[in-house]
Amino acid sequence: MDRQDPLRAVRQKFRLPKNKDGKTAIYFLGNSLGAQPKTARNYVAKEMQRWANLGVEAFFEGDEPWLDYNRRLNPLLARMVGAKTKEVVAMSSLTVNIHAALTAFLKLTPERNRVVVVGSPFPSDVYAVDSQIRMRGFNPTNCLRKIAPRENEDLVRIEDIQHYFQQNGRQTALALVEQPSYLTGQAHDMELLTAFAHGEGCKIGFDLAHGFGNLNLKLHASEADFAVWCGYKFGNDGPGGVGGLFVHENHHKDQTLNHLAGWWGESLQRRFKMRPDFIPDSTAQGFQISTPSPLQLACLQASLEIYDEVGMRNFVQKQRLLTGYLEFLIGDLPHSFCEIITPASPYFRGSSLSLRVRKQPRKLVQALRADGIFVDFRNPNIVRAAPNPLYNRFEEVFRFSEILHAHAGR
Ligand SMILES: *Cc1c(COP(=O)(O)O)cnc(C)c1O
Repeated sequence: MDRQDPLRAVRQKFRLPKNKDGKTAIYFLGNSLGAQPKTARNYVAKEMQRWANLGVEAFFEGDEPWLDYNRRLNPLLARMVGAKTKEVVAMSSLTVNIHAALTAFLKLTPERNRVVVVGSPFPSDVYAVDSQIRMRGFNPTNCLRKIAPRENEDLVRIEDIQHYFQQNGRQTALALVEQPSYLTGQAHDMELLTAFAHGEGCKIGFDLAHGFGNLNLKLHASEADFAVWCGYKFGNDGPGGVGGLFVHENHHKDQTLNHLAGWWGESLQRRFKMRPDFIPDSTAQGFQISTPSPLQLACLQASLEIYDEVGMRNFVQKQRLLTGYLEFLIGDLPHSFCEIITPASPYFRGSSLSLRVRKQPRKLVQALRADGIFVDFRNPNIVRAAPNPLYNRFEEVFRFSEILHAHAGR
């Protein structure tokens, strides 16, 4: 499989973490912090040099001024997430972008005062939603709802999501959905969820923390109102790297959207005019708040170029084989040791598999690290393994499975 893999050369474009003995580790943790593209260092060095040579004029001088660095990346970014160029912006980091999107899209009234989240969301997302509800003078105890898996189940059933909207849709202002779930790896049919929400007049946004650079997204076609992501997980744009925001063009002419205003949200033409009134750019660029770092954008560029060369279709084609192979190999482990909780259908998951480990999951993760493997532990008993189609090999999946079987036999 490695020999036949059309993406086999892409691995050479990354620096992969090493073990203490200097050998390359089996890095199945790109869902937490993606590996470093080799070009990132050169691109950062280039911007450091421009800073040294040009000082503040680097914002305006030359063919690649900092002033519109993120706009130059937009075509690559848009292709990657299936959006129009004007619907995306590389900006800030994830939780900030959740706040920026909710500030615009969350409108609570006494009749429609609920916000719903799905599954077992990442705590930071819930903190953000909670505070946005309180800012509007409402009480999260009543207003924040969750569509949870049924008792003794790990995944959220689509009929339960549909049922929620049928029962509560008219009281619900907005749904925020992790796509896919950071914990279980469950992904949803975005078009279907959007249809449920819009059918009842609710807004819907997706948190693509684990979807950006992992799922073959079709954001424009999904009709979702907005989406947000971080770039440092599958997106490989480095620790604390720049995230992003999608705003569907349906909203670009909406004058009632409340922006977290800042001068970077104004059009390029207006930004340096220093006018007393804020007029946001009508595209997703209008959601920017303050000056982005060219050093971070350089790292993002390095990763986006690789994705653009590979294409998300080819990425997902290998993902199905690579993650499918992992599922096949570890599927025979005794359930008294561990079981896979991620959906079995490749349409409802990405690269990552989540395992419920019955005995001392944290210790297992430490033992695997000693064996040269990076995976991680999430409360209460979940081990996540994410082979990455850009840089992992089928042979690494095989070796991981052999080692896991050896631990199961102990
Ligand atoms: C990783 C992750 C975050 C992290 O947010 P930052 O603002 O980048 O620190 C938030 N939400 C989800 C769902 C995540 O997976």
